[in-house]
Amino acid sequence: MANVDNVLRTAVIGSEIDVTANQLDAVANALKRTWNAGTILRVAMELEVHSLQWFDRPAAGSALFLKLHAAMKEVGVTLNPVVCGRCGREALLPNIIEGLHCCARCYGESKRKICSQCGRFQILVLHAEDGSGMCQTCMKKLPERMAACIECGQQRFVSWNGPDGPVCTRCRPK
Ligand SMILES: [Zn+2]
Ligand SMILES: [Zn+2]
Ligand SMILES: [Zn+2]
Repeated sequence: MANVDNVLRTAVIGSEIDVTANQLDAVANALKRTWNAGTILRVAMELEVHSLQWFDRPAAGSALFLKLHAAMKEVGVTLNPVVCGRCGREALLPNIIEGLHCCARCYGESKRKICSQCGRFQILVLHAEDGSGMCQTCMKKLPERMAACIECGQQRFVSWNGPDGPVCTRCRPK
C-alpha cells in the first residue's frame, strides 16, 4: 500500500520545490486523515507524470493535485499560486476550459460566440454540425420550438412538455 509520505516525496522529486522534513510530515498527517489508500495511489500516479508541469502551473492540475497543493501551502511551502488558467486572477476556479481550471467569469466568456441568427456575441445554447450556434433568444423564436400552450392557448415557446401537452414558460408549474 502506498503511503502518503512516498506520494509527497514523488511530488517533490524533480519539481524543484523546497520542502522541509517537518513540512512534509505535517502535510502527510493532514492528508492521511482525509485520503484513503486508493486516492493516495491515484495522485501518486498522476504526479509521476505531471508533477513538474502542475507545480509550475497549478491550474493544469487535477482536482486531487489542487488539494495536495492547498495542504502544502497550508504548512508554509512556497508554491506558485493557483490562479485562473485563462485570466491569471486568484479566484474560485469551479470550471475547466481545455484542461485548465478557470474562474466562472472566464468560463462564461469562453461560451460566448457569434450567434448565427442575430449576429450578437452571446452564450450559444443550440449547436449545429458545422460549428455554428444560436443564442437562447433566437432559439426560443424557432418555429419548431413553438406550440399552443395547453394552459393559456397562446402560441409560445414550449418550456415544458407535460403529460397533457406543451406548456409555455409563464404557465409552467413552478
Ligand atoms: Zn479567469
Ligand atoms: Zn441570437
Ligand atoms: Zn401558457
